[in-house]
Amino acid sequence: MDSCIFCKIIKGEIPSYKIYEDDDIFVMLDINPLSKGHTLVFPKQHFENIYDIPEELFAKIMLKSKRLAEKLKEKLNCEGIILQQNSGQKAGQSVFHLHVHLKPVFKDTEIAYEKPLRKKLTETEFEDLQNQLLLKEI
Ligand code: AMP
Ligand code: ZN
Repeated sequence: MDSCIFCKIIKGEIPSYKIYEDDDIFVMLDINPLSKGHTLVFPKQHFENIYDIPEELFAKIMLKSKRLAEKLKEKLNCEGIILQQNSGQKAGQSVFHLHVHLKPVFKDTEIAYEKPLRKKLTETEFEDLQNQLLLKEI
């Protein structure tokens, strides 16, 4: 996609701190990181979000993300890693070429926890939701 910044990075039209690529996938350092080693994993083919991307390609991104997490832990000795994928502007997506964030967390990494924002639901609300969302397959 011509106007997409990640497509331009993949084509080499914009520089990046690439750490890995193969036929399908590109991995680079985030230019505005939460912490040292904040990394983005994304497909070379342009897909906007989690709804658009073919299942098998997303599965490969998740597999590579798992392996990358192991490498980040080994090389950076982080305390933990946040794996995040934002689909949709309201969910925090700002680059509309699907990507997965890996954010190493260290002792001094400040994180905006959502826990204080979590809701309390009544039993009826849970049951209604359960009925609304009940799945025969996934
Ligand atoms: P999101 O907000 O989930 O769409 O994430 C987009 C991420 O891309 C942000 O964390 C940005 O810091 C990062 N980003 C944007 N432009 C670049 C770039 N040219 N090189 C590396 N990372 C970038
Ligand atoms: Zn793109």
